[in-house]
Amino acid sequence: MAKNQVKFQKGISIHGFMKLYGTEEQCQRRLFDMRWPTGYRCPKCHYDKYCQLHSRALFQCNKCHHQASLISGTLFAHSKLPLTI
Ligand SMILES: [Zn+2]
Repeated sequence: MAKNQVKFQKGISIHGFMKLYGTEEQCQRRLFDMRWPTGYRCPKCHYDKYCQLHSRALFQCNKCHHQASLISGTLFAHSKLPLTI
């Protein structure tokens, strides 16, 4: 019988998990790296310069002013809970 790759993947302790994702900033940084692994790219025009709108956690393209969210299109999109929860 073939080994179930998902079931037997290496785990992480709760201590290790909290060390990686214990703060909102760490969660946001991880989402940023997953969304833009080679650095920010505007989803509309692919420009790489942006400013961050701290009031609404949005990234705004410096060229076309398109605003991109870290959580749009993810399972976090419709949640009002902090990412740490
Ligand atoms: Zn743009």
